[in-house]
Amino acid sequence: MTDRFTISDAPEEFLAAPLRLTIDLGAIADNWRTMARRSGKARCAAVVKADAYGLGIEDVGQTLYHAGARDFFVAVPAEGATLRPYAPEARIFVLSGIWPGQEEIFFDHDLVPVIASEEQLAFWMSLLSDRGPYPCALQVDTGFNRLGLSLDDALALADDVSRPQSLEPVLMMSHLACGDDAKSPMNRAQLQAFQQVAEAFSGIESSLSASAGIFLGPEYQFDLTRPGIALYGGEALSGAQNPMQPVVKAEARILQIREAKAGESVSYGASHRLTRDSRLAIASVGYADGYLRNLSGSGTALRDAGLPGAEAVIAGHRVPVVGRVTMDLTIFDITDVPSALVRSGDYLELFGPAMLVDELARAAGTIGYEMLTGLGLRHERIYLDADL
Ligand SMILES: *Cc1c(COP(=O)(O)O)cnc(C)c1O
Repeated sequence: MTDRFTISDAPEEFLAAPLRLTIDLGAIADNWRTMARRSGKARCAAVVKADAYGLGIEDVGQTLYHAGARDFFVAVPAEGATLRPYAPEARIFVLSGIWPGQEEIFFDHDLVPVIASEEQLAFWMSLLSDRGPYPCALQVDTGFNRLGLSLDDALALADDVSRPQSLEPVLMMSHLACGDDAKSPMNRAQLQAFQQVAEAFSGIESSLSASAGIFLGPEYQFDLTRPGIALYGGEALSGAQNPMQPVVKAEARILQIREAKAGESVSYGASHRLTRDSRLAIASVGYADGYLRNLSGSGTALRDAGLPGAEAVIAGHRVPVVGRVTMDLTIFDITDVPSALVRSGDYLELFGPAMLVDELARAAGTIGYEMLTGLGLRHERIYLDADL
């Protein structure tokens, strides 16, 4: 009888997930407290859209609620419904507003729509005429040209004495286009436009700044701030030292280590040719996991070449990607890591404390936001509990 290798004989490390995210909830709570402090007199909300930037809205929402957050922003109502049990007394604002057919989910879960167009406003008022008063937020566009009532429409609404009593906006908000660039003249222009509307709606709270805007100073903070990326350790300001604590570590398991000779090629398209005898680690992560194809090794021909290529970290060494990133697997050059330090079954750090998510994002020509929200569904999520 031939020896059969069964899963119970496998080394313990192979029983663990091939891809894991370790999420430090304590760091998220600390980052929220930092942003709350930086928000001065304003209250600090928490933006938890897109599954809390890929990190899990339930655990993250609960942590932020325990840390003291009482205002949350989500993108769509389903996210608000998921969050509600974890943030029982909080206000949950839904940035995409309310559309016909969504009445039940809003009213059942006590979600506050952010009304951002005349069309939505008309629908909202017709709903209120049946239902009676219910809070909403209003968004005004001050130069982003994304969602929002026009400045003129918002000012006209403020002056409209005939507007229904049941319309009870509790928040007036807008969003900065260039908050990450303190030198951009857009910031002041948007600030001045927003100040006009905030004054016209002086009875209600106002909110302008996301993570980056909070750093622009007290004028930008109004009554409520709306940080997202900073809570998750990402870079809010371009070209400045990131003051936030790293929150996530993403790791992929090495499935195999192989020796390859100088002159051999690596991965699809045979587009990377080895210039020396090499040791390669084949890691269990690919573009289906949000490890973008643009992270392929330096000099690898893609449709759009020219990016620097990513590195991961193992045993304190930085190891570059070689060849193209594939759907489920990526190849790293570990030739320079002493062989005693790497075995198959070990984990490579893709990003985390040793490789900041924004540094990895830059190698793909993108931003930390996109790396986090594109993580895919195959990671095991390990939560380190916040000590609250
Ligand atoms: C996503 C978003 C935020 C949070 O932005 P960060 O840059 O992640 O802090 C705040 N406000 C609005 C309207 C958003 O869409």
